[in-house]
Amino acid sequence: EIAFYNDQFVDMNEKVVPIQERGHQFGDGIYEVIRVYHGVPFYLDAHMQRLKKSAAAIELQLPFSVAEIKELCMEGLRRSDMEEAEIYMQITRGIHSRQHHYPDQANSVFSMTVRRAKIISSQVRTEGINVLTVEDDRWKKCYIKSLNLLPNVMAKQKAITNGCQEAVYHDNGIVKEGCSSNLFIVKNGVLATYPALDGILHGITRQIVMELAKERNIKVVEKTFTLDDLKQADEAFVTSTNMEIVPLKQVDEDILPTERPISNQLIKAYQRKVLEKVTS
Ligand code: PLP
Repeated sequence: EIAFYNDQFVDMNEKVVPIQERGHQFGDGIYEVIRVYHGVPFYLDAHMQRLKKSAAAIELQLPFSVAEIKELCMEGLRRSDMEEAEIYMQITRGIHSRQHHYPDQANSVFSMTVRRAKIISSQVRTEGINVLTVEDDRWKKCYIKSLNLLPNVMAKQKAITNGCQEAVYHDNGIVKEGCSSNLFIVKNGVLATYPALDGILHGITRQIVMELAKERNIKVVEKTFTLDDLKQADEAFVTSTNMEIVPLKQVDEDILPTERPISNQLIKAYQRKVLEKVTS
């Protein structure tokens, strides 16, 4: 496992974060998670674009250029000697005596870890997972990949306490996304997902899945739908960098059909896309 803090590679367990780090005290920062397949970061440019968007949205100056960040990723991978890895990076507004407003001098801090990827078993991908629906109690700017994840942490814990693997946010009955994933339903052969408005994270995997579907002439609509639509869907799945595509077996008390032709087609398409990217 590899770790980087501010300006150097450090031991994963080294104590490097000063007490007055704004990420530590305020959650004042942003992050990205990138999956590495066979040593190749998957959709790295898309993740870098989203990082820039998150930084701009919180008026944070990135301490490194995108080219430098990409080089740090590759250097971290070389040092890790890992083929199947997960790169986590975060940028905070740096170190300053505690005050709410931004420090006068930009002194953002970049940190990164490279760790072994958590690979979802084919059994989970075949059987699907159970999800618990919860009221969305987050702020209004969930398109920003902000470090403030307390509502997500609590929602995931509630899901796990209730025997589920993911929590699904709804806003007054309108289904939005998972607490660490986006969500799609299939009804009558049409794929639907919540629109890319400010209230959800614009997932990279969500975007890839929409493109894969369109290439296969599966109709995709970005539209709102209800909890009842989810519970009565023909198929449903969540997407994320880590989980890729994972079907839903059960939503609260409702069991979804086990025939999942479109989900399975997209899972295969995603695997092919991974192969294409690592061999190109
Ligand atoms: N939505 C939320 C709230 C997330 O935290 C994540 C990823 O962690 C996603 C969606 C999926 O985004 P991506 O596909 O870019 O990993």
